[in-house]
Amino acid sequence: MQSAKRYSNTNFTKRVDHEGGAKREEMKHASPAICSHCDAVYDAGRWTLLSAARPELKSRKWSESEKVICPACKQKQSGVAGGYVSISGEFFGRHREEITKLVANETTRAREANPLSAMIREYVENDVLKIETTTEHLAERIGHALKDAYDGETDFDFSHENKVVRVRWHRD
Ligand SMILES: [Zn+2]
Repeated sequence: MQSAKRYSNTNFTKRVDHEGGAKREEMKHASPAICSHCDAVYDAGRWTLLSAARPELKSRKWSESEKVICPACKQKQSGVAGGYVSISGEFFGRHREEITKLVANETTRAREANPLSAMIREYVENDVLKIETTTEHLAERIGHALKDAYDGETDFDFSHENKVVRVRWHRD
C-alpha cells in the first residue's frame, strides 16, 4: 500500500482506499485524462481539479480517448458510499442552514485536496441530516469539522473490511 503522505494538507494517514482507487484507474485510461462528468483531471499518477492542473492542461483540447469517468463519478453512479454521516439533535434543527453550509465547505475543500473525495448524496430523514460520501476521509472530515465548530458528541465507527466509516454527530 502506498502511504497517504502526498495529501499532506490532510491529517488522514490511516487508510488510503481513495488513492488505491486512483491507482487502479491508472492502468485503464490515457494520461492525462479528464472526467466528462466533473472537473477532475488525471495527470502524472493522480487526480486533481482542473483549476489546480498544469496550465497546459487547462487550455488543452481533450480528445475522445482522453475523456473518462473519474472514480468518484463512477462511485456516484453506482451509489456505493465509503462514508456515511448522520447529523442529529435539536441543534441541527435550530442551525440547519449553518450546518448545511459547513458541510458544503468541507466537501469543497476535501475535493480541492483530492477530487476523488466527493459527496454522493445529502438528504434529511426524520430531522436527521444524512450524507453519503465517496471516501471515508470526507465523512471523517465532516465529523471533525462539526466537533470543532459546535462541540456535541461525535462517534466514528470504522468497518475495516468494507472500508466504510459511519460518523454520527449529535447535539441537542
Ligand atoms: Zn468525475
